[in-house]
Amino acid sequence: MSRNFADTGYSAVEFVGNAESLVAVHVRDDGVEFEDVTHLEGATVPETVQYFDAEYGIGADQTAVIGPAGENEVRFASIMTSEERAFGRGGLGAVLGAKNVKAVTFGGDSSADINVPASQMEIHREAATDDHIMKRQGTVAVMDLANEMDGLPSYYFSEQQYEGVNGINGDAVEAKKYKKGTCSACAFACKLPTRDEERGVETEGPEFEVAMAFGSNAGVDDIVDVMKSNDLCDDYGLDAISTGNTIAAYLQAEDEFGNRELIWSLVEKIAHREGIGDTLAEGIDRAHAKLGVENWSVKGMDFAAHEGRVLQGQGLSYAVANRGADHMYATFYSVEYPLVPAKDGLDPNGTLGKSDRLVERENLMALCDSGVVCKFSRDYMSPQRFEALFGADFDDLLSVGERIVTLERHFNNQRGFNRDDDCLPYDLPDFEAALDEYYEHRGWSKSGVVPDSAVESVTL
Ligand code: SF4
Repeated sequence: MSRNFADTGYSAVEFVGNAESLVAVHVRDDGVEFEDVTHLEGATVPETVQYFDAEYGIGADQTAVIGPAGENEVRFASIMTSEERAFGRGGLGAVLGAKNVKAVTFGGDSSADINVPASQMEIHREAATDDHIMKRQGTVAVMDLANEMDGLPSYYFSEQQYEGVNGINGDAVEAKKYKKGTCSACAFACKLPTRDEERGVETEGPEFEVAMAFGSNAGVDDIVDVMKSNDLCDDYGLDAISTGNTIAAYLQAEDEFGNRELIWSLVEKIAHREGIGDTLAEGIDRAHAKLGVENWSVKGMDFAAHEGRVLQGQGLSYAVANRGADHMYATFYSVEYPLVPAKDGLDPNGTLGKSDRLVERENLMALCDSGVVCKFSRDYMSPQRFEALFGADFDDLLSVGERIVTLERHFNNQRGFNRDDDCLPYDLPDFEAALDEYYEHRGWSKSGVVPDSAVESVTL
């Protein structure tokens, strides 16, 4: 049975222009069909997935859909796959919504023949037998350490430790996990199908970011309450990090931290842009002034959980990343927590002297995104294994990542972004000097702009 977009025989789909009414786009190896789905207007993600299953037998893992949030162009709407997986950060769901595309389905039998190198099976074996804590607790496993390091954003970023951490940490999530969860055929299986039978709550997650955004940052100390928020975001097609953080901003403005019923009603209002939800649907960057709270965002994207005030290279990464305060852009936190061997890790204090490592990680993460390599495979993916999987020299592969980062920066520059936007709502030691150092490593100007000569070399 077809389960993968590659089975269509295509590498990508480009949507040009807008549909006049709500459509589904069916991509098959024998062509593309458009279906009018105006009857799905306002349908949640599960309702939409169920329609394609009932009508055509198309499974959830062969669909990419938006919920009401995408249709209403909420700035942080997600595109959802397999019902519970989100292309979350950055509002791609709003882009599909603006184009009147409710769903993309795919299928066929035309994937290219691929020679799977022996190292891939080695990676699978290692991942299957590894006793890594993420296999039990996902990314929430890091929450206690973050809290101990004074690095757990709480009460809309106004505090860095949370007294209710035990109610939302890795152990709390593990207690609600009822089966193994994984992406596609991954043997690591770090996903978190969780359920609370007493309250009838079932979801996938929450991961660390959501346990922060709807937990410590919202003053909520019960993992089941966070699971419910997580599930609502999945149903409406909302990025759970931005939704939680934006609601936390409102809770601070109204002095309502910990008010679960209010939180859940706000998720719904945001998805439908009802009342105050219309303001919150614009995100923290646009809404904070109306709410009278601080702007905890960079380049319009609100902060992830890994605390840049403590992991200060991660703080620098949030400032310079082309996508804003996005922890996955360089995953720099992973070398600053004291979890890696000393020879691979960095002192979390300070920003100077880290830019060569930051540039390398940004390039590597861009390569992972383009090569469809999970960023959590970091313990298994040596340069030699990248070379075996991609059939190319590792330095050449990193240069692909470098071109991607440079092109993104150029795209931003053309829209007016420069050094002034590489900023943070807090002070870090030697920050301006670290920016200079970073731009120099990248070969960009002191104002954070890609020179014309570099643009030519990456676009040719
Ligand atoms: S692909 Fe990545 S996120 Fe998915 S289960 Fe495997 S390690 Fe976890």
